[in-house]
Amino acid sequence: MGDSRSLSTKELEHLIIEKFDGVLIDDYGWEHHKLEGKDYDIRFDRSRLEWACDCKAFTFRHKFKKKYCKHILEVQDNKLAQRSGRASARVV
Ligand SMILES: [Zn+2]
Repeated sequence: MGDSRSLSTKELEHLIIEKFDGVLIDDYGWEHHKLEGKDYDIRFDRSRLEWACDCKAFTFRHKFKKKYCKHILEVQDNKLAQRSGRASARVV
């Protein structure tokens, strides 16, 4: 591969989704998740076990008395589905 910085954001997104099952891990140990067709960067801090997203719902989540936005919940669902092999699996 080599210089991945020359890729455009769109190309990088597709690369992440296709080659890494939607997950990319950076130098800080953060998982970067992508939902197909969505521009949001959904992040998971592996050392602190904390989720973050750059959408407005997550930024203002305290105002809405929510812990996560729907993107994070969707990524969590996808992860659980991959691990258990069942798409309906959900832990609250
Ligand atoms: Zn979000």
